[in-house]
Amino acid sequence: MLKPSYAPDEDCKQTMTTMTALQGTDIQITTKLCRFCGAGLYRTFVDLGMSPLCETYPSTAELNHGEVYYPLHVYICEQCWLVQLEEYESAENIFSDYAYFASFSDSWLKHCEKYCNEMQARFCLGAKSFVAEVASNDGYLLQYFVRQGVPVLGIEPAANVAKAAIEKGVPTLVRFFGAELAKELAAEGRTADLVIGNNVLAQVPDLNDFIEGLKILLKPEGVVTLEFPHLLRLIEHNEFDTIYHEHFSYFSLISTVTILETHGLRVFDVEELKSHGGSLRVFTCRAEAKTHAVAENVARVMLEEEKAGLRTVDGYKNFAQQVKETKLALLEFLLKAAREGKSVAGYGAPGKSATLLHYCGIGKDLIEYTVDRSPYKQGRFLPGTHIPIHHPDHIRESKPDYVVILPWNLQDEIMKQLQYIREWGGQFVVPVPKATIL
Ligand SMILES: [Zn+2]
Repeated sequence: MLKPSYAPDEDCKQTMTTMTALQGTDIQITTKLCRFCGAGLYRTFVDLGMSPLCETYPSTAELNHGEVYYPLHVYICEQCWLVQLEEYESAENIFSDYAYFASFSDSWLKHCEKYCNEMQARFCLGAKSFVAEVASNDGYLLQYFVRQGVPVLGIEPAANVAKAAIEKGVPTLVRFFGAELAKELAAEGRTADLVIGNNVLAQVPDLNDFIEGLKILLKPEGVVTLEFPHLLRLIEHNEFDTIYHEHFSYFSLISTVTILETHGLRVFDVEELKSHGGSLRVFTCRAEAKTHAVAENVARVMLEEEKAGLRTVDGYKNFAQQVKETKLALLEFLLKAAREGKSVAGYGAPGKSATLLHYCGIGKDLIEYTVDRSPYKQGRFLPGTHIPIHHPDHIRESKPDYVVILPWNLQDEIMKQLQYIREWGGQFVVPVPKATIL
């Protein structure tokens, strides 16, 4: 594994676990180290209390079992500006039987098809190219390359979703990705023209090993595209519920460029996307690649982040208070609805709902049930709160006064699908950035 140039060596790391730092008059002791650069983590970004793992949906038989809660305490590294959670649960435990099937959202599939068409045109991908996707889920994206006759390989650690990919004709390896697997593939001559990492970077516990693997898997002039929620938008739009245990890291372009450059990769373009409340798509290649001139977008987004203070503590310090305001506004709405005898249902059972509901202290008494299109989740319960998850038809049958859209990033799509709630005077509510009736 390549080490960042300013990463402490092992001896130094040992010392750092017991070192103290003076901050104002408080003496702080930390055993927490940045997962990228190894610096001590002293500064809190936000502390969201305790929450269960968000993608574990108990069945009726499991309702009497206990559930483990972990802290959701997010820190800022003041060396490399990586915002991060500690890893509380091993990645194997979280991702081996993952409930998230990417193919259940229509708008997400459209986004992926568009991406495949754009990449094919921009990088001239054809029958002789090779495209690899890390965390390829159920083949939601690679299926479009398969249809275009471009050879692909998916790499996906969750056996249940990988099986769905293979069934739809997307070759998939059931493995965790890192430098070791990349070396195996490279030794077989399977280096790639395009390596895709969509919404996976945040979930990687060993960031340095993962990035090193991406580089090893790349042909000399190959391209890696990485999509991830943009920290700048998370702060701006108060998207605190996108913080959960499965997401270990939260990236700005500033921290991403530092991380990639340390591993001999250079960023040559970046696109701003609307997905997941505002994401970045970063294009990177080997530092020594001869093609891929640097686009103006890179300097533009970097400048925007610098203006927002993301290279100093100033850009991060108001977030915790902003989050508290969101909680108060949502509780005010729900308590008022309860006092007035109005019925409130949820829509969706996304990972982010666990953070939202636990941080805000919302249970079945305030949101009676939720619904989800995924058959895997129907008949099960939200973790911790045990709010039941029904088939979407349940909304038509029970006619709630309010439907709280939990995956607010899919708000337009969901409102279109559920337009019929207007027939009985039903109204939609989004919880973030501030509880609003639509
Ligand atoms: Zn760091």
